[in-house]
Amino acid sequence: MSSSARNKKVAFSVFWFRRDLRLTDNCGLYHALKSEQAVLPLFIFDTEILEKLPHKEDRRVCFIYDALMNIQTELLKVGGSLLVIKGKPIEVFNKLIIQYDIQAVYTNHDYEPYAIDRDFRVSELLKSKNILFHSFKDQVIFEKAEIVKNDGTPYTIFTPYSKTWKAKLNEHPISSFASEKLLSRIYKSIPLLIPDIKALGFIPVETIDVTSNINEEIIRNYHDTRNIPSIAGTTNLSTALRFGTVSIRKLVITATKLNEPWLNELIWREFFMMILFHYPYVVHSSFKRKYDGIIWRNNENEFNKWCIGDTGYPIVDAGMRQLNETGLMHNRVRMVVASFLTKHLLIDWRWGESYFADHLLDYELSSNNGNWQWAAGCGCDSAPYFRIFNPYEQVKRFDPKLIYINKWVKNLNEMDYPLPIVDHKYARDRVLVAYKKALAEN
Ligand code: FAD
Repeated sequence: MSSSARNKKVAFSVFWFRRDLRLTDNCGLYHALKSEQAVLPLFIFDTEILEKLPHKEDRRVCFIYDALMNIQTELLKVGGSLLVIKGKPIEVFNKLIIQYDIQAVYTNHDYEPYAIDRDFRVSELLKSKNILFHSFKDQVIFEKAEIVKNDGTPYTIFTPYSKTWKAKLNEHPISSFASEKLLSRIYKSIPLLIPDIKALGFIPVETIDVTSNINEEIIRNYHDTRNIPSIAGTTNLSTALRFGTVSIRKLVITATKLNEPWLNELIWREFFMMILFHYPYVVHSSFKRKYDGIIWRNNENEFNKWCIGDTGYPIVDAGMRQLNETGLMHNRVRMVVASFLTKHLLIDWRWGESYFADHLLDYELSSNNGNWQWAAGCGCDSAPYFRIFNPYEQVKRFDPKLIYINKWVKNLNEMDYPLPIVDHKYARDRVLVAYKKALAEN
């Protein structure tokens, strides 16, 4: 395009929101607003992602939608507006380039395999039109190869990774990015129409009570309360972290002041992101490849019972019913149901992972995959496979008064509540034989 043709169009830079749906302490947005051009904020409802969602009532889409509406409210106050488009990102940018004189596109890094490929294609398109593409680290404290062993290879065990992570944090204290203070530099526009959820092809559903607020009391007591599923003993911030309605920098600053065990959980999140980045084969295979030799039973009838929470193991059923009703499940119970599926029922961890991916409001590829592999024993830092959760012992330890179970399993004492789907000891012996055989042969 000649420069005279360019001049006829409106000129601005674009900030492309993805999983960083906030105006405060947003690194990419901060850098965009610091640049010379006014900034048009953009969100693309990516049809490549939307079309793969199995249900029209998707809590994630609704959560994103609400977050966008909050952003829009704030932008309107400074005379700006969010541009929201449904489509394939590459096609959206192709059109925007023709319509406007875009000087540069700013965004934040995304480390999942699909996102890396998408960003590469978009950046190549922009490059071919002489438009700069700037991407920044925002959703983690340390990314990619910032935390590696002395020989430069990635860590595959959490504890040494977390030690190096903490040492590096001490050397490089966190600085925030006050994007919220620069909002006056937003591109001034009439309010742009945001398509409603139905126009996106979805049905509005109420998202349950998730938060972007930090509850310091919970964090202070976290080490005592984190394993009790019947109380609000964990922060419930996973969805906010997933979609970036809260800043990880803010959380880590709070964690370092208040509670190291909670900081460790935030580091687990980065650990699994780092593992996925360096070992993308984990999306389809076991991290420890010899575990791919396990002969799973994969009984569909039993799988369906696990999905709906009808196994006759109350703690498993409570967890699955909580997931189906709310889109969330307490971490302790996630571990129990994942162990039960893979070990007691000998069903491939990928089946469970995929069910969680379809239903979790806080679904995150790296954490979900990493934790499922951990539960199945095939992950990078799993407990030995012969450590098998006893669901009855888990109840005794973490829900002895059955408060959590009674909340979700309303028919616990009714005639229609099923008998255990499999005997615990029988299942334990069966899985030990299956794992031992696979590991001996591979
Ligand atoms: P808190 O206990 O308050 O922890 C704070 C934050 O630390 C969490 O919000 C989360 O971002 C991170 N975190 C905590 N535990 C873990 C962990 N084990 N691994 C990675 N990060 C962690 N978490 C997800 O965010 N998305 C998933 O898709 C997901 N799938 C899981 C699947 C299985 C089988 C298991 C066992 C765990 C999974 N987790 C997943 C991890 C964990 O269960 C949730 O992060 C946690 O329950 C969220 O509750 P919270 O926000 O109150 O966490």
